[in-house]
This record gives sequence, C-alpha cells and structure tokens, in this order.
Amino acid sequence: MRTEVQKENILDYLLNELETAVTELGEKKFRASQIFGWLAKGVKDFDDMKNVPAALRASLAERFYIGLPEAVRSQRSKDGTVKCLFEFIDGTQVESVFMKYEYGNSICISSQSGCRMGCTFCASTMDGLDRSLTGGEMLGQVLAMRNLTGKDIGHVVVMGMGEPFDNYDGLSKFIRLIHDKKGYDLGLRNITVSTCGLIPKIREFAVDFPQVNLAVSLHAPDQKLREQTMPVAKKYDYDDLMKTCREYTELTGRRITFEYAVIDGVNDSPACAEELASRLKGWLTHVNLIPLNEVRGRNYKTANEKSVASFKKILERNGVAVTVRRTLGSDIDAACGQLRRNR
Ligand code: SAH
Repeated sequence: MRTEVQKENILDYLLNELETAVTELGEKKFRASQIFGWLAKGVKDFDDMKNVPAALRASLAERFYIGLPEAVRSQRSKDGTVKCLFEFIDGTQVESVFMKYEYGNSICISSQSGCRMGCTFCASTMDGLDRSLTGGEMLGQVLAMRNLTGKDIGHVVVMGMGEPFDNYDGLSKFIRLIHDKKGYDLGLRNITVSTCGLIPKIREFAVDFPQVNLAVSLHAPDQKLREQTMPVAKKYDYDDLMKTCREYTELTGRRITFEYAVIDGVNDSPACAEELASRLKGWLTHVNLIPLNEVRGRNYKTANEKSVASFKKILERNGVAVTVRRTLGSDIDAACGQLRRNR
C-alpha cells in the first residue's frame, strides 16, 4: 500500500472543476487547461508540467496526487498484447489489456475491482466486488498503459473487470474526461462499453452517450439458459432486455453488439443458434462469438471450433451479422480476472 491517500486524485477532475480549483488557489483560469493537457499526456509528477509556475506546482502537489496506477505485474504476448495488473494508491488492483488491431491500438480497461454480477463462467466475479473505480482511475489505466507500452491508444473498450453500469457515475465521468478536446481528446465512437444488461442504465446511456458503442453480454438464446449462467437475468428478464435493446437502436440509430461466449455443451447447440437467429433476424445488430476462456475453478469448457463454426453459419444463413472474436494473447493468462487471482 502506498501513502498520500488523503490527497485527491487530480485525474478525477474535469476541466471545469480544475478551473475552480486553480482559481481557489489564486491563479488564472487558463492554468487549468495547461494542467489538464499535461495530465492527459501521462505526466507522473507536477514538476513535469514545464509551463506551470513553480509556486502553482507546489500548491497542486499539496492538495493533489496524480493517480496513475502502478504496474505490479505484466505479461507480454508474442502478438503484441500486453496484459497488466495495475495497483492504485490504496492497494486496489485491476487488470487492463493492450491490444494491437489493424485499425490501431486498443485498450480494455476495468470499471471495478471485482464484480458483483456473479456470471458463473467469469473469473472477475469469484471474490465478489472489491470496489468501483472513479472516472480518473479508469482514465489512469489508459495513461499508464500508454506510458508502459510507449504506443498511442486510439480505442478504449470498457470490458475488463467489473460491470460498468453498476458504476454509472464513474463510467460517465471517465467518458467526459477522456473525450475532452483539451485533454486526451478521444472520439466517442472510439469507446465501447459492455454491460451484462442492466436495463435502466441502458436507457440512461442511450440518452447520455448515444455515440458511444454499446455491447450487451447475452450468452444465451433464451431466459431459461441465461438464468443458468447469468444471475442478473433473474432481475432483468430476457424479453424485456431485448425490447430495451431494440429501443436503444431506434433511439440512437446505432447497432448493438451482442457478446456470446460459446460454452461446450451449455449454449453451443444448433438449436441455440436457431433460437438466437430468430430473435435477432432483421434487426440492426452484430453478434460477437467469443470462444470461452477457460477459468481455473470454473467447470466450463470452451466450445470446439466445429460447433463455433456451425453456430456462426446458422446466424449468417439468417442474415445476422456475426464475427468470431480473434483470440489475442492466448499464450498469456487470457481470461479476464485471472491475473489478479494468480497473485
Ligand atoms: N460486466 C460487463 C463487462 C465485463 S466482461 C459485461 O458483462 O459485459 C467482458 C465480456 O467478457 C463479457 O461479455 C463477459 O461476459 C465476457 N467473459 C467473462 N468471462 C469470460 C470467459 N471466461 N470467457 C469468455 N468471455 C468471458
């Protein structure tokens, strides 16, 4: 555990909040933009803010700390994937993954340490929820990963540990922080948020951030099967979820990605594929089939390639857009939440 926890993380400050703070310190408002710009560059120390007067740097350091997480473990894969266990000042640990794609570099960040959604195939949820992250801590993962890899990151997916819609305030702040033109300036369309399907928050998100991509973890073609692996389904019924997703599409004009982890003998049958296809036919969606990452302590096996291929074919035959997720970092602990558990 590191010290200084009584100070505030300056990465949690939106530009207008920083303007107020700087004015309170008796300085001109424009200093806030300079500071905000430096923070987005990933500086680790106030003294690295070259055009900020020394006196202001000193008073900033008295009140704030720069909450970049520390990489306590990292694994590099041959394909360029970097998986990192980050630790925040209070000892809280989360995972982030850097990935190279044809369209550019991407990072998968966590929104919570642990998770309380309880999906039975997932490693992140095995010890329950530790705590939610702040918006600044979510931004900190992007900045720290860029510092670590030395590579630009142009896409962010909130698909790491945790349920982002169980931390809606932190998530919203993160999006506002990283999107700010004076800061990291990331386009809203370069952000994807993945949820296990918290209906009221999907509705809120459609209004608040219609340009941010939404992915919904479905993992089953019907209520009965979904309930078996995703406890959240008991609270939010399958048909209601589908209806909400359709409304989301109508309201935003954006297509939803449905994630479907294919699990051997659980949800990989042709009948499951037919059922899913009948639900999604003629609708603006995209299905991402994810061969299950096997998690120690969970009894599920990944579906074999043949059944994934025929699952895909059935969806295609019904005109449903579908891709099989490329497996990156298969030579390192791929399944989310595993690195943290392997301490
Ligand atoms: N809580 C959010 C985001 C976190 S996980 C959500 O549920 O969407 C990101 C995706 O990985 C989700 O679709 C999740 O269900 C899936 N996932 C979790 N564990 C997995 C595993 N062992 N193998 C494959 N996908 C997994």
